[in-house]
Amino acid sequence: MSRPKVCVVGASNIDLISYVPRLPALGETLHGSTFRTGFGGKGANQAVMAAKLGADVVMVGKLGTDDFGDRTLANFRELGIDTSQVSRSDEAATGVAPIMVAPDGSNAIVIVTGANDLLDADDIAAARPSFRESGVVICQLEIPVGVTLAALRAARDEGTRTILNPAPAREDLAPELLGSCDLLCPNQSEAALLAGHPVDTVSQAANAARELLARGPGAVLITLGGDGCVVADEGGVDQIPGVTVEAVDSTGAGDAFVGALGYYLARGDELRSAASWANRIAALSVTAPGTQTSYPERVELPPDML
Ligand code: ADP
Repeated sequence: MSRPKVCVVGASNIDLISYVPRLPALGETLHGSTFRTGFGGKGANQAVMAAKLGADVVMVGKLGTDDFGDRTLANFRELGIDTSQVSRSDEAATGVAPIMVAPDGSNAIVIVTGANDLLDADDIAAARPSFRESGVVICQLEIPVGVTLAALRAARDEGTRTILNPAPAREDLAPELLGSCDLLCPNQSEAALLAGHPVDTVSQAANAARELLARGPGAVLITLGGDGCVVADEGGVDQIPGVTVEAVDSTGAGDAFVGALGYYLARGDELRSAASWANRIAALSVTAPGTQTSYPERVELPPDML
């Protein structure tokens, strides 16, 4: 059986995580207790999730010509991700996210997008053959919005299904973006910002999904943490319940969900069935610490999930 093909257009960052006794005050120098680095960026996370499930993944992105760029490329290659569409620039550093985490879990994060901001229309044009050969193309909002729009349009031109994960949340989303994707996949806070009202309950999510559907995407899926997700399309609006697990660290759960959803859709599953599998995979990811490190590998999964 041939492997599902997934193409991800988006950002790669290196997380630089310091664990501190408390968040420092303005101008204060504090000693942290521990430091670690992690691979991040929504695009990279989603690509890694799909690859861990066994998809053939092409990553489209931009890195600096620095050590962090080398390490990001090596991570992709170790996971079997095709990096032929990952280009490098010496005009900006690889994206980084310095993060401070206090013992109560509160944090402060700075994202320096760097080379991710330099991904451009030429890179999208070069990636067209990969779009054509993929079952789905997945985009987010951590690269220039115009480039995301160009990618969605190019993928559609090539006849490939598109998923837009409108993250991080923003109010000023160009209306064309919503009309250019086959599936819009926000979390609750992103959906609330787009819909212009709170999305705290399943029924509010169902309403928001219906409203967003009227703005042009082929379908809308709003993720609801432990409550799973709500799906709206021409077939109606349904909640796909979540899976109860003992949550350890929910960082990156949304990216696990979107990457897994891409895998199951590219495999040919119907949307509600793909969403149900993605709930199961994302739930597993919250039972382990870290982001990409918490994503389950194919070998760890029962055969019925593959
Ligand atoms: P984000 O990480 O973007 O905030 P969500 O919190 O909505 O996104 O989580 C994405 C998906 O991860 C959910 O739809 C669900 O499948 C799964 N998930 C998240 N938190 C939990 C949890 N506590 N228990 C079970 N599944 C979870």
